[in-house]
Order: sequence, then C-alpha cells, then structure tokens
Amino acid sequence: MGSKCDVIVAGGSIAGLVFAAEAAKRGVKVLLAEEHSDVGEPEKCDGLVSLRGLRRYGHAPSEIVIQNRIASGLVHSPSGKEMAVNASALDVVVVDRSGFDKQALQKAESWGAEVRLGIRAGDLRESGDGVTVKVGGRTVDAKYFVDATGPASSPRSGIIPAAKYEIEADWVRERVVEVFLDAELYPGFFAWVIPFGAGVAKVGVAGRGIDSFGTLEKFLAKRPHRVLRKVAAPIYVGGPARRFVEGRKVFVGESAGQVKPTTAGGITTSIAGAVIGARWVSDSVQLGDRGLLENYQPDWEGRFMNEMKSMLRLRSVFEKLTNKDLDSLVSVLSTSKLLRKLAESDFDFHASALLGALGIPGLLKVAGVVASAEARSLLSGS
Ligand SMILES: Cc1cc2nc3c(=O)[nH]c(=O)nc-3n(C[C@H](O)[C@H](O)[C@H](O)COP(=O)(O)OP(=O)(O)OC[C@H]3O[C@@H](n4cnc5c(N)ncnc54)[C@H](O)[C@@H]3O)c2cc1C
Repeated sequence: MGSKCDVIVAGGSIAGLVFAAEAAKRGVKVLLAEEHSDVGEPEKCDGLVSLRGLRRYGHAPSEIVIQNRIASGLVHSPSGKEMAVNASALDVVVVDRSGFDKQALQKAESWGAEVRLGIRAGDLRESGDGVTVKVGGRTVDAKYFVDATGPASSPRSGIIPAAKYEIEADWVRERVVEVFLDAELYPGFFAWVIPFGAGVAKVGVAGRGIDSFGTLEKFLAKRPHRVLRKVAAPIYVGGPARRFVEGRKVFVGESAGQVKPTTAGGITTSIAGAVIGARWVSDSVQLGDRGLLENYQPDWEGRFMNEMKSMLRLRSVFEKLTNKDLDSLVSVLSTSKLLRKLAESDFDFHASALLGALGIPGLLKVAGVVASAEARSLLSGS
C-alpha cells in the first residue's frame, strides 16, 4: 500500500482489529497502526466475557484461547455475607486476551488489511473530501480516520484507578468468579477474583481515588499466593461518548465509551461497536456518501443504550451506598426467585435483567433497607 488508503485505524487492540477485519472483508483498503510492537501486549484485560455475545457479532474466540468456563459468581458483602449466582447457563468464559487479539489480527490480515506494529497514528488533518494522518514517519491520505485508541480518548470523568495481579494460590475456586464489595476500601467499584485455571486467578481492585497497588496488596495480605504478573491499568465506567463520529473521525470501542458502566467489561460492546462501525464506514467509502456515517451511533445505541442507561442508573445508586447498605442489600437480593432469574438472564444485559426481575415492588423493598438518603431517593424515584 502506498501513501493512500480508504481508512486509517489508530489502535490495534480488539476494537481496531475487528474493525479492520470487517472493513477489509467488505473490500475497503485499511491501514491499521498499533503503537506496541506486538498485538495483545502488554495484556491488561481479564478476559471475562460471554460467548453468546461474541457469537452474536461473529467474533467468538477459538477453543485454544479459552482458559476457563465459569460456573458461578459469588458476591461478598463487607461483613462477609454471601450471594451466589449460578452462571452455568450464561456461557461465560475467561479468554486469554493476548491470544484473542492475535486471532483478530490474523483475521484482519487474512482479509487484506495492512497492519503496522510499533508505530503511532495521529496528527489528523481534515480536508474537504478526506483526512491526512501521520502514520509513523509517513503522511497518509485516506477518506476516514478511525480512533480505536482505547482509554486514551475516553471521557476522563469515567476513569477509575485499578491494579491486578495474576497469581497462583490454593484458595482460588476454579470455576467461581468472586466479587468483594466494600465502599470504604473500593469506593465506586470492588475487588475481584477471576480464575483462569486450577489454582490460578486474575485478582484485581479498583476504586475512586485509591492507591490501587497498595489496596491490592492489602487484599492479598491474608491470602497466601505467588505473583505471576502485575498490571496497572485504569478501568472506564463513564458510559458511551456523546458523539461516535466527528467529521471524518470515527470512534470505536473504549474510545467511544462502549464499555459497561457496572463492571467495566468492554470486550463484547467494543466488538459490537467495531462491527457496526465498520459496516457504516464501508458503506460510506463505497457509496461516496459521508452522511451514511451518521447511522453508526443510532445503530449501536439501538442495541445497547437501554442497557447502558440501566447500568449508569445502578452505578449512581451503587456509588452512594455505605457498607451497612451493601450488607443489607446482599441479604435482600439473595432471594431464590431473583437469583433464578439472574441465572437465566443474558450476561451482557445484566442490569436490565436485575431491574426487570426486581420490578417496582422489589426496588421499593431494596430502597427500604438502604440507609443512604440519596441512594434511597434514586431507587424509589425509579
Ligand atoms: C484491568 C482491566 C480488566 C478488564 N477486564 C475485562 C474483562 O474481564 N472483560 C471485559 O469485557 N472487559 C474487560 N476490560 C475492558 C477491556 O479490556 C476494554 O474495554 C477493551 O480492551 C477495549 O478495547 P479497545 O480496542 O477499544 O481498546 P484497548 O484495548 O484499550 O486498546 C487500544 C489500543 O490502542 C493503542 N494505541 C493508543 N493510541 C495509539 C496511537 N495513537 N497509535 C497507535 N496505537 C495506539 C494502544 O496501545 C492499545 O493497543 C478490562 C480492562 C482493564 C483495564
């Protein structure tokens, strides 16, 4: 490829690579630049994802990158109460994110996308009918620029510090994801243990304003373990960006805020953004009609916006709860009917499932056990 192509993609992680594969499959000339010298590295993501969601968008991982299948989730309240959700029907797996990204690279290249590693793309200039972008030392002309640069471009206010270790430990439950709630230790988020095999887990903490490594060390202090790898990477919980398209610049994945505001899971929603975005960008290229880009955001929002709004609502309540509230909630929510409904729900639409299963009477009951006046009014005003 010379110094001209149809689309330049900045960022060679899951959103950029899936975008490149999908657009190249439609005959679009794509040049993708990834600043790291290898795709999937350094690996920061835990890879907890629903196979159902990935199949829906045609990008399920091959067996070789599936590290574990999850049977249940266990939520611990600050005082040690527990709520167990059966996840065996939810099709939730842990993938090796680096391996998964490398599969996406293979797809992109096999469809003819040019992927260049170890270089940055940026310094965008728009002209009437195209863009000029610096890709490494070269200036490249294209019709559109796709920003798949991840958290670098996502809205700042939604970013929470986080740290995670991969560890070996004999207390890890092989098929159980554990979540530890504590509004004082992990304000606005939680600690988690995601097993990726027998006796190995990805263990992390996130919280507003916390010293993430110090907090993780404290979490692990009473739990004997051997560290295999340490990672610090902020998570994003701020919800979708206001605009996915600005002129000839198109945002996909985390840079468009296509991430769940409850758990910060972004693999499926980012892949969906890449698949949907690639469809509209490709049509725009092929039909020479920039106006078609305007279909991308409503298309993605039509599938995810209700769920995103429910998640943002749950987050705003969650951020106001005290430890006493969290204890009461874990007790109140552990009813067999609710747990059964959650066990049958869709992992990618868990907030709508929870709110739907509770209904108005359930929400009022929940509001009744919550001490925080702000959280109570948010719940009962719903
Ligand atoms: C600690 C942690 C745990 C997580 N666990 C989960 C999980 O279990 N399940 C889940 O679904 N989600 C999880 N996520 C979220 C998930 O990792 C992201 O939502 C997803 O990776 C977003 O993909 P992306 O391609 O949009 O961005 P990213 O994966 O952030 O990739 C952006 C890429 O762009 C590159 N880049 C940036 N600027 C430039 C430039 N100018 N030129 C070239 N390249 C550039 C970066 O190097 C990077 O490779 C987790 C996130 C974190 C931080």
